[in-house]
Amino acid sequence: MTEKIEVLRRLQSIDTKIKRLEGDKLYRSHDVEKKKDEIKRKRDTLASIVAETKNYQKSIGLKELELKTKEEEIHKLSVQMNQAKTNKEFSAFKTEIGGKEADKSVIEDAILGMITKYEEMQQRQREFEKEIEHEEVSSKELQKKVEDNIKEMDTKITAFKEKRNKYTSLLDDNTLQQYNRLVSHKDGIAVAGIVNKVCQSCFMSVTSQTVNQLMSKKELTFCHSCGRILYLDDGSDELEDIENI
Ligand SMILES: [Zn+2]
Repeated sequence: MTEKIEVLRRLQSIDTKIKRLEGDKLYRSHDVEKKKDEIKRKRDTLASIVAETKNYQKSIGLKELELKTKEEEIHKLSVQMNQAKTNKEFSAFKTEIGGKEADKSVIEDAILGMITKYEEMQQRQREFEKEIEHEEVSSKELQKKVEDNIKEMDTKITAFKEKRNKYTSLLDDNTLQQYNRLVSHKDGIAVAGIVNKVCQSCFMSVTSQTVNQLMSKKELTFCHSCGRILYLDDGSDELEDIENI
């Protein structure tokens, strides 16, 4: 019987390690996904920056067209002014041209301001593109690292599973079934130690009768509170033979 509980304890230790490794694998894959999502969000932002910059370029084009129209108007008025027949007519054209020149100057100033802003927008776009490029390099590095990690973890899992097979072959079908049922219903923990008459899984006290039964080592003993398979944990053995896989 001592042997059976020792086998179960080792099986439990292996299963806990496998479960932890499977969890780590998921966690690491999640890191890669997170990074990819982050880049995708940045690409979306870049797309809107590009659209914004393009739109702004279009409005500069429209403003330049406005300037050209104004220049044509001024030119037309100048021709008319030069053909003026009276001083009064000449003055009227001159005043009108003066007004148009003032408008033209306002438009020119606006265009200069717009070009400055446009250059800033282009600069921002370039910086953002660079940032994304950089992120993609680091994402690829992360992915490579995670793939290597996962490979290492898979190797460990395979080794643990081989060990697991070795231990399960030592158990009778009934015990193995009991163990497996507990593992799947008790959050992966089927075997619990008793320290100072307290189950280390549910932290409920066990009776002296339970302790006596464990001492006699005749049959498997279960916790009355959580139903797990119990063993007396005096802290002396650490299942060292499976620690260093
Ligand atoms: Zn318990």
